[in-house]
Amino acid sequence: MKRFDTQAVHLSKKKSQSIDSKVTPIYQTSAFKYKDLDDLESFYQGEKDYLYTRVGNPNTDELGQAVAQLEGAPSGVATSSGLSAILVGILAVAKQGDHVLASTDIYGGTYQLLAHELKDFGIDVSFVNFEDLNQVESNVRPNTKLLYSESVTNPLLRTESLKEVVELARKHRLKTMIDNTFATPYLCRPYEDGVDLVVHSATKYIGGHSDITAGVLVGNEELVGKAKTKVVNIGTNLSPFEAWLTCRGIKTLSVRMERHVKNAQYLADSLKEHKAVDKVYYPTNVSDRGNGAIVTIDITNSCDVDKFFKSLSWVNIVPTLAGVETTVSYPLSTSHRALPEESLKELGITKGLIRISVGIEDQEDILKAFVDALDQSYLN
Ligand SMILES: *Cc1c(COP(=O)(O)O)cnc(C)c1O
Repeated sequence: MKRFDTQAVHLSKKKSQSIDSKVTPIYQTSAFKYKDLDDLESFYQGEKDYLYTRVGNPNTDELGQAVAQLEGAPSGVATSSGLSAILVGILAVAKQGDHVLASTDIYGGTYQLLAHELKDFGIDVSFVNFEDLNQVESNVRPNTKLLYSESVTNPLLRTESLKEVVELARKHRLKTMIDNTFATPYLCRPYEDGVDLVVHSATKYIGGHSDITAGVLVGNEELVGKAKTKVVNIGTNLSPFEAWLTCRGIKTLSVRMERHVKNAQYLADSLKEHKAVDKVYYPTNVSDRGNGAIVTIDITNSCDVDKFFKSLSWVNIVPTLAGVETTVSYPLSTSHRALPEESLKELGITKGLIRISVGIEDQEDILKAFVDALDQSYLN
């Protein structure tokens, strides 16, 4: 019989009993135990899956595999954030002395990573307009390794032909990487179009409830294997609990997206008819299941922008997107804050540009909240 102090540390456990819980348990552990040296050796021989959570954990593996499956890709890895998934994806393809060609209108945080941090890794990045693939091609250098873009861009919701991007990349023996955060695999599966690496900020629709920060990178075994090594060596792994929450979110991805998309289409169509909206940005060609759940409006000339935000009754200003609640964000002072003036102008990020992340509430309530705010802030 152990004494009190030892009992308190070594809680009694039901030995080797398999408990068939309905959902995957949370393996909230930093490491896994081994019976003897042979047992330990079995990990290094590839017979056992887990050693230390930074190196691998059942919950993070479940998330990587779940997103890979939904994207139609053989392999996936979960990471601590969307940005760290982008980082390890790029490092799987490019090293010191290499060059990456990225789209101009990518997510602000990705721009920061590519424009400022990668330079310190010795990786050169240039930004070009991916709407003009001739321009992309004319910027390919002998050391170019990767074309990087987004399936639906932020906040102006531009789309591009991924098949043409892939074709161009193959012609020059480049890899392609696409951020599929806005579209999600419900609407768009870039890997099936031949894209090498598909990345998600799982913080957004994959998780879906604005309660986690996570990323996932999917692709073939070889590239994702290289990215996994980066995750382990740099330490950008995701925590088991956050992976578990993200997996829980994925189970409702389809039903959430179905409602998100239906509400967004209704809002975009209705706001196009409203006199206080200068312009509505909502794509038309994302997929046959709909065009996403982000609607961007420009009210620069028609409304008092401050008053508009103040008049949005239950819709909050939140610098993220993709939750079940409808929210708005202001790209000029948040996601695109870091961009130089010329880029803002070129991209059309105006002082009256408002990005709406359409939630899953009743579509008439959502429309009313915006129509009321527009009516109250209309300048004429
Ligand atoms: C949010 C976002 C990211 C960054 O993801 P984090 O999880 O915040 O690191 C990257 N790309 C897009 C399109 C995003 O919306």
